[in-house]
Amino acid sequence: MRPQIFERPRTPEAVQRAVLAARQRGLIIKAVGAGHSFTGIAVAPGVLLDLSDMSGIVSVDRERSYVTLLAGTRLHQVPALLAPYGLAMENLGDIDRQSISGAISTGTHGTGAGFGGIATQVVGVTVITAAGEFRRIDEDHDPHLLGAFALGLGALGILVEVTLRCVPAFVMHELDRPEPLEEVLDGVLDRITNVDHFEFYWFPHTDIALTKTTTRLPESAKRKPLPPVGKWIDETLLSNGLYRVVCGAASAVPAIAPGFNRLAVRLTGDREYTDRSFKVLTQSRTVRFREMEYALPAEHVPAAFRAVQALIAERGWRITFPVEVRFAAADDLWLSTAHGRATGYIAVHRYWREDPTEYFTAVEAIMRTFGGRPHWGKMHTRDAASLREAYPRFDDFITLRDEVDPDRRFRNRHLDRILGA
Ligand SMILES: Cc1cc2nc3c(=O)[nH]c(=O)nc-3n(C[C@H](O)[C@H](O)[C@H](O)COP(=O)(O)OP(=O)(O)OC[C@H]3O[C@@H](n4cnc5c(N)ncnc54)[C@H](O)[C@@H]3O)c2cc1C
Repeated sequence: MRPQIFERPRTPEAVQRAVLAARQRGLIIKAVGAGHSFTGIAVAPGVLLDLSDMSGIVSVDRERSYVTLLAGTRLHQVPALLAPYGLAMENLGDIDRQSISGAISTGTHGTGAGFGGIATQVVGVTVITAAGEFRRIDEDHDPHLLGAFALGLGALGILVEVTLRCVPAFVMHELDRPEPLEEVLDGVLDRITNVDHFEFYWFPHTDIALTKTTTRLPESAKRKPLPPVGKWIDETLLSNGLYRVVCGAASAVPAIAPGFNRLAVRLTGDREYTDRSFKVLTQSRTVRFREMEYALPAEHVPAAFRAVQALIAERGWRITFPVEVRFAAADDLWLSTAHGRATGYIAVHRYWREDPTEYFTAVEAIMRTFGGRPHWGKMHTRDAASLREAYPRFDDFITLRDEVDPDRRFRNRHLDRILGA
């Protein structure tokens, strides 16, 4: 859907003017980050604000390692911005193309049982409210509301500044190994408590898990980056180039999927390197896909995963994209998928040319039996009534939304579905 008005503000004051103008004209208005969500959550039929020109550091509190960024800053810009201060973001997801505001607004997370999603790094935000006013939420200003505004689904206001609690720059050692899937599932709950970061991928039609175990090291640790050729083969050729070709072919001839998956596992499973945190945590992903990801109480991950495995076998689907499993610490953000519970994430993907409906619907039904909560930026079919049951603070969020945006200036059809009109 095309917006009626497209604006690219360069300052928080320009955002304020845009909100006031939208209000006067009775238009709805939304900020969009990198547009990387898989749902219509960022669709802006009225006024679309592209904040790409609002990027960079606003201020740094060196004593507390708090860094305030303009809201349109992309995650891949952050390492260079933080480097002069010897700081880094505590954890990241698996790509860095998103804007900081888009990432936190949908609960973007990485992996690590001791680490929360990116929004848990937020210690303050400045928003333009529906009334067109600047409002600061942080330790000194309405601290009780930070848990809502830090992960607000774009429903509470337009973020213009985001303050992050950063950590001293660090290095990570990553060990990638193919391992027997059954053993990984049996031991995963112990394993995640013994390492800093753990995740695994399973290519359907194989019995191997590709595990990634990552250890945090001080910045002074000796780095052994992947040689550029190895990285190119892994990321450009295999993970993206060859993969794109095979996914394209498999969508026409599904029978080749199992053979390709076995080959992919053999070729990509094994590597070890040590590098700066953001280089280890994020990768490049250029093959287009659709994704659904569910957050479950961590202890249910092995059983839920086995149910997905059984489903794929029973239905005889040929799936080229892997199933991905990650973990995060419990947090207290009102609409965080990890709210109040140590969490495991199970993500399913399909190549963009393949219709994901049947697969995702069946997986979603399984996830719901395990108390699953869908990622806010990825595909799912839940509505407000069913999400209310999944989030103890759902009604608090709606009450706050009624207070700060009574006219639903920041609504769109997706938000009407998941939060109610
Ligand atoms: C290839 C790929 C890999 C991904 N990997 C991960 C991953 O590892 N972990 C994970 O959890 N997710 C992952 N995601 C999902 C992604 O992180 C989220 O969908 C995220 O919201 C995208 O950020 P964005 O900047 O593109 O936001 P958009 O999609 O542009 O916007 C998302 C929401 O944020 C709101 N928003 C944006 N800017 C503002 C603002 N200034 N003020 C108020 N609201 C705002 C929008 O209105 C919308 O509601 C991935 C997605 C892709 C395509």
